[in-house]
Amino acid sequence: MIEDKNQQRTDLNNLGEFALIDHLTKNFKINHKSTIKGIGDDAAVLDFDKKKIVVTTDLLVEGVHFDLSYTPLKHLGYKSVIVNLSDVFAMNAKATQITVSIAVSNRFPLEALEELYAGIETAASIYNIDVIGGDTTSSTTGLLISVTAIGEVKGDDETYRNGAKPNDLLVITGDLGGAYLGLQVLEREKEVYKVNPNSQPDLEAYTYIIERQLKPEARQDIIKLLSDLEVKPSSMIDISDGLSSEILHLCKQSHVGCDLYEEKLPLDPVVISACEEFNIDSTTVALNGGEDYELLFTISQEDYPKIKANPNLSVIGHIRESEAGMHLVTRADSRIPLKAQGWKNFNN
Ligand code: ADP
Ligand code: MG
Repeated sequence: MIEDKNQQRTDLNNLGEFALIDHLTKNFKINHKSTIKGIGDDAAVLDFDKKKIVVTTDLLVEGVHFDLSYTPLKHLGYKSVIVNLSDVFAMNAKATQITVSIAVSNRFPLEALEELYAGIETAASIYNIDVIGGDTTSSTTGLLISVTAIGEVKGDDETYRNGAKPNDLLVITGDLGGAYLGLQVLEREKEVYKVNPNSQPDLEAYTYIIERQLKPEARQDIIKLLSDLEVKPSSMIDISDGLSSEILHLCKQSHVGCDLYEEKLPLDPVVISACEEFNIDSTTVALNGGEDYELLFTISQEDYPKIKANPNLSVIGHIRESEAGMHLVTRADSRIPLKAQGWKNFNN
């Protein structure tokens, strides 16, 4: 398992809340002209000059959304930003600012929070986001992290879940199922470690899927690509709970049906071999494994020539009238109704 490499343990009680906030936030820089005032006053001040803005928030709870026995705090900080940016991009907006709120128990030393904030800072820097505020409080149980992300929309470019039309193409970015399988590998290693703490796992073959779980990326590149290609999706959603569940959201809100083709589902070779090893069906993983943070969108058939050559984009099906229902068309050409198995957090 991942050892705490920091030998030093500075007790949070020695610092006090204000010194802690100052310590954690002193490196954040402001890059966007829409940020008039960031950290340091009672509230941040933003000026978007008549642009529409999008706002989204997510709460991550220890033991429900993450397990610190195999999640390095730096990765956790990074991921807590990414999951929010993914929601901003799913609106076809440009992410500009975040706030970060944390509740921590005194079992965490300052060095642990420094790690968490190093991850937050890395994500903010890579994705060019201003960190403009937050809140810091104590928790009697585990760690809680809440990030709120803000973004701006160019003209009327925002995309909703409810705009899909019959005959539109269903498009997915990247590949599916990796994050779920990465989690299976980490959970398995955790069990091995419990039995034999001296075991040295060789996880090299699983690097791709473990990264998909611990250090996901949000598809900022796709928002730029769509803008460059002059393609505005008729609807869009990000994959946090699993493809099946997200397709059902899109179709229900758009009052349409769809055919999704099993043979078109994009799978990485590492995902395919891990499925064989864990003896799980790769289609089930692609449909129900969550946390891939890819974008699912629909486009009009006219836009197909603009996207067809792009290796980041796969057409996986098409939209139908609502009477047709929502189906997976299997390799054997049978039609199976799509079900939302969803993500496991709600079973906890
Ligand atoms: P208040 O008492 O008005 O809530 P705080 O003392 O909590 O103010 O916060 C002071 C400043 O530090 C504010 O700008 C707030 O947004 C920011 N801040 C507090 N906690 C965090 C945090 N964990 N991460 C980033 N910014 C924070
Ligand atoms: Mg406060």
